[in-house]
Amino acid sequence: MEYRRLGQAGLRVSVLAYGTWVSFSEQGELSTAMDILEVARQAGVNLFDTADCYGHGQAEILLGRALRELGWDRATYVLSTKLFSGLRDCVNMCQTLNRKYLLQAIDESLERLRTPFVDLLYCHRPDPGTPVEETVWAMSDIVAAGKAHYWGTSGWSVEQIRQAWECAERYRLRKPSMEQVEYNLFKRASLDGAYAARLAEMGVGIATWSPLAAGLLSGKYQHAIPRGSRAALPGYDWLRTSLVDAARNGRVRELAAIAHALGATPAQLAIAWCTRNRALSSVILGASNPAQLRENLRAVALAPLLTAELMQRIEHIFPYG
Ligand code: NDP
Repeated sequence: MEYRRLGQAGLRVSVLAYGTWVSFSEQGELSTAMDILEVARQAGVNLFDTADCYGHGQAEILLGRALRELGWDRATYVLSTKLFSGLRDCVNMCQTLNRKYLLQAIDESLERLRTPFVDLLYCHRPDPGTPVEETVWAMSDIVAAGKAHYWGTSGWSVEQIRQAWECAERYRLRKPSMEQVEYNLFKRASLDGAYAARLAEMGVGIATWSPLAAGLLSGKYQHAIPRGSRAALPGYDWLRTSLVDAARNGRVRELAAIAHALGATPAQLAIAWCTRNRALSSVILGASNPAQLRENLRAVALAPLLTAELMQRIEHIFPYG
C-alpha cells in the first residue's frame, strides 16, 4: 500500500481508504462489517470514513461496534466522520454548521463510534445560513478540545475554503486541512490542475469519493439492476437513472475491454486511474462485501502499469466534465 501526506499535514493516509456510506447503513451487519474491515487492514488501508447521516447514525454505530470487536490499536488507524445533516429534524440541529449543532453532534458521533476522538472531522456541506467565522471557531474549538485532530470540508468551493482559511489565519484558529470531493472517470473535471493547485497553496489535502460512480464503473449495470446492489435498495431511486443509462454503460464497456486486456477488471482500472492523480491523498472506496473490496484493492498493483498512452486511451472514452 502507498501512503500519502494529507496535504501539508504530517498525517499519512493510505492511497486507498474504505468508506461506510451504504454498506454499513442499509446493507450493514456486524460480521460482514468486521470481515470488510479486516480485508482492508490486511491490505494496508489505514483510513476509514463515515458520517453522522449515513443510515441516520447506523453507519457510525456499526463501525464503532466492529472496531471495538476487532480490538485494533487506536493509534494504528485514521478515522474520519462528517457533520452537517444532523439526526434531528428540528430547527438548529439539521442541515447546519452552527456552533450549537457542531458541539453537540461531535459528542454524539464519538459516542456512536465509541472513541474519544476522530482523526478527521469534516463539515459535510457548506452552510450559507451560518457565518463562516462561527463554523471555523467551533471546528477549531473541537480540535483544541482533542475531539478531532484535523478538520476539513466536503463539497465546498475553493472560494468557501479560502474564506474559512483566511478566517482561521485572522483569528489564529485551526485551519482546514482537507477537502472531500467526488472524483471518478465520469467526474474528471472535479479535480483538475487549477483546483488542486489552489487547495495546495492553502496546504489542504484531498480525499476523493465514489471512484466507481456508485458502482457503475464496475460494469455490473450493463443489462439490469442486480439484486442486492445499492441501486435496488429502497430510497436509492435517485441513483438508478444514472446507473442504468445506456450511453454511460457503453463507455464502461469500452473501459472493460482495456481492463480485460490488462488482466484486470473495470473496477480495478477505474480506481487505479484515480490513484494516478498525485493531487489526491486518498481514494475512498465503497464495497458491500469482502470480495468486492479484495478485487478493488488490487488496483494498487495495477496503477504502475498505466502508461501515458493507456491513460490517454482511458480518458478518451470519458468526456471531460
Ligand atoms: P464507489 O463509487 O466505489 O461505489 C461503491 C459501491 O459500488 C459498493 O458499495 C458496491 O455497491 C459497488 N461495488 C464496489 N466494488 C464493486 C465491484 N468490484 N463489483 C461490483 N460492485 C462493486 O464508492 P461510494 O459511492 O460508496 O463512495 C465511497 C465512500 O466515499 C463512501 O462510503 C463514503 O465514505 C464516501 N462518500 C463521501 C461523500 C461526501 O459527500 N463527502 C459522498 C459519497 C461518498 P453494491 O454492492 O451495493 O452495488
